[in-house]
Amino acid sequence: MENAFNISVKKSQVDNTQRYDFTNIQFGTNPTDHIFTAEYKDGIWNNLQIEPFHNLTLSPLALCFHYGQAVFEGLKAYRCTNGNVNVFRIDRHADRFNLSLKRMSMPEVPKELFISAILHLIETDRSWVPSDLDSSLYLRPIAIATEPRIGVKISDEYLFVVMAMPMGQYFSKNLKVKVETQYIRCATGGTGSAKCGGNYGGAFYPTAKANKEGFDQVLWTDAQEHLYIEESGMMNIMFVIDGILITPPLSGTILDGVTRDSLITIAKDMGIAVEERKISHKELESALQTGKKVEAFGVGTAAVISPIESVSIGAKTYKVKISEKGIPFRLKEELKSIRSGRKPDIYGWNTIIHSV
Ligand SMILES: *Cc1c(COP(=O)(O)O)cnc(C)c1O
Repeated sequence: MENAFNISVKKSQVDNTQRYDFTNIQFGTNPTDHIFTAEYKDGIWNNLQIEPFHNLTLSPLALCFHYGQAVFEGLKAYRCTNGNVNVFRIDRHADRFNLSLKRMSMPEVPKELFISAILHLIETDRSWVPSDLDSSLYLRPIAIATEPRIGVKISDEYLFVVMAMPMGQYFSKNLKVKVETQYIRCATGGTGSAKCGGNYGGAFYPTAKANKEGFDQVLWTDAQEHLYIEESGMMNIMFVIDGILITPPLSGTILDGVTRDSLITIAKDMGIAVEERKISHKELESALQTGKKVEAFGVGTAAVISPIESVSIGAKTYKVKISEKGIPFRLKEELKSIRSGRKPDIYGWNTIIHSV
């Protein structure tokens, strides 16, 4: 692979792949043998390196610890049926990373650098890409403010890091959700469309409260009226009501999910009517009460779809039917076929790293 950015590669002496059964590996705690890092100083990204996985050393004064300039991405590389490796929609993740960085007053990572860093890390850790079609290599790029100075300011120094970890088949459990009408995830004009750590930090408390009440997740509602449904926990939300796929619009308060976009695209081409529009919990409740055919599911890179089995609105709980023949599962299968190369990549979503 061409290395236009002069990424220095120092190979690890150990190969930890032997230690794991990839189909049955705990997600999120077992990084690959290598890590990519780049430093931003004096207006440029420098010191581009792939090294054996290591900890970071930062001053406690580093601004990321104090004022929340920290953003991330989450994307996946899959093994295709022919042995090649496919990084799914890397382009769109690069664009979103830069939108998040911009919103947090952090310097953009040139798109080519973002892509190059990820492709080279995967190349270096190629043996970590699981071979069964339901597993993947999860990639986690982050950027953090590193300037050691506690005064409130925009940092002048940053780290861009990419780590990777294998992910077995994600058995998404069916979710019991509650419509959240006290707390919010984000208000208009806030940081809801940026993938920044702070959005998660602020969401933990209401989510933990809902967990104690027996729910898996909350359905966030808008900040003004607590009426319109925004997201399902940290996933985008989709409903199918009487055959029409309905999902909230990109109003600035929700994340522009790559899975959301992919499923909308596929659904339209499968002839399913799609409506990107506001949907209130009142409309949802009325659909559930009047016996309309309702499906509900969260969508995101980690689980692709997480079916919702019940929705609580106020004191009432409504069961939602989950059918393996339903639209969500059909969309998921179609997406999987494109990713694995079993169907033509007509949307140009796949970045293929050819097997050597
Ligand atoms: C990452 C994320 C999603 C899902 O986005 P994908 O690109 O599909 O993984 C949805 N909502 C929030 C809040 C997120 O952080």
